[in-house]
Amino acid sequence: MTTALLVSGVLQNLGIAAIAALFYDIVLRSCPTPGVRHTLVAFVFGAGAVGSMMLPVEVAPGIIFDLRNAFVILAMTFGGWLAVAVTTLAAFSYRLWLGGAGALPGGVGILMCASAGIAFALYFKGRRNGLFSFAMLGLFCAASLVSMFLLPFETAMGILKKVGPVMLVMNILGTMIVGGIVDRQKRQFERESVLSQEASTDSLTRLANRRAFDLRGPDLMETANQQGDACALMLIDIDHFKQINDAHGHDVGDKVLQHLAVLVRSNVRKTDLVARYGGEEIALVLPSHDAKRAFGLGERLRKAVAGTPYRHEGKLDITLSVSIGLYASDGSTESEAFTTAFKRADMALYRAKEAGRNRVEIALAA
Ligand code: GH3
Ligand code: MG
Ligand code: MG
Repeated sequence: MTTALLVSGVLQNLGIAAIAALFYDIVLRSCPTPGVRHTLVAFVFGAGAVGSMMLPVEVAPGIIFDLRNAFVILAMTFGGWLAVAVTTLAAFSYRLWLGGAGALPGGVGILMCASAGIAFALYFKGRRNGLFSFAMLGLFCAASLVSMFLLPFETAMGILKKVGPVMLVMNILGTMIVGGIVDRQKRQFERESVLSQEASTDSLTRLANRRAFDLRGPDLMETANQQGDACALMLIDIDHFKQINDAHGHDVGDKVLQHLAVLVRSNVRKTDLVARYGGEEIALVLPSHDAKRAFGLGERLRKAVAGTPYRHEGKLDITLSVSIGLYASDGSTESEAFTTAFKRADMALYRAKEAGRNRVEIALAA
C-alpha cells in the first residue's frame, strides 16, 4: 500500500462526494415541502457514505479506507437527526456486511463519528461553518482511527505507522472538501431563497407584492377551476386614505397600511394569496370561497377594519374603513379568465365606492 494509492483512492471518493453534493443541490431546489426535503437529504448522505465504501482503498487485508466518515460526521449539520440516523445506519450496516478484519473497528469508527457530528452540530447550531470548522470535524474523523486498536495491537500499530499520517491528512482534507462543497451549495440556495422571497414581498406590509400576485393568482384560480372548486377574488381599498395621509402625514399613513395588512392576514387562511396590489389596495385570491363564503369573509373584514382603529404611538386612534369588491365563481361553470375576473372585482369595488363606501359589493361569475 503506497501513499499514492491511498491518495488516488481518496480522489475517487471525492467523485462520490461531488455526485452526492449535486444531488443535495437538486433536493434543496426541487423539494416543495420540508418533510420530503429532509427525507431525501438523509438518503443523499446515506448513499454518499455507502457509495464511498464501494470505492475503498484496502490498506491491509480486510481493512478498508474511504470517506464514509466524512458523510457520517457531516450528516447532522446538513440534514439533522433523520440524516444522521439514516447515514449512520446505512454506513454501519454496509460496513458490517462487507466484513473482514476491519468490520468491527470500522463500525465503531462510524458510531464515534456520528456522535462527534451530533455534538458539533448541536454546539455550533445556528453559527456559520467555515473551512476551519470542517477541518476540526476532519480531525475528529481522523481521531476515530483509534478504533483500529480493536484489532490486535501489533496489527493496528503496523497499519497506523505505515499509512496513519496519510489517512489522517486524507480524513481532514476529505471532510473539508465534502463539507465545503455542500456548505457552499446550502448557502447559495439560502441566498437565492432570500432574494426570491424579497423579490415577491412588499417591503412595507410584508404581504406578497403585485408581481407575486400576478404570477401566483392566475395559477391558484385555474387550479381551483380545474378541480371544480369555488374560488373568489377580493379587492380591498381604504376609504379616503388620502385624507388620512393629509391629516396625519405619510409616515402615519404607512403605519395604517401595515395595520390593515395585519388585520387582513389574520382573518384569512395561510393558503389564501394576499397581496398589496397598489398603494392602498389589497388583493386576495381565495380558493374554496363561493359567493356566500366570500361575501361573509368580506363583511367580516369590513367590520374588523371599521371596529379596529389604528392606535398611533399609544394615544391617537385613527379610524378607517374599507370598500371591498368581490368576484366569485362556485366552480360549477367554466370560469372567466383571471384578468376578466379581476376587472369584474374592480367594477364591484367601484360600485361599493359609488354606493357610499364602507361596503362589500359582489360580481358573480357569468
Ligand atoms: P377612495 O375612498 O376613493 O379610495 O379615496 P382615497 O383617498 O383612498 O383614494 P385615492 O386613490 O385618491 O388616494 C389614494 C392615496 O393613497 C393617495 C396616495 O398618496 C396614497 N398612497 C399610496 N401609496 C401609499 C403609501 O405607500 N403610503 C402612504 N402613506 N400613502 C400611500
Ligand atoms: Mg385606491
Ligand atoms: Mg382608497
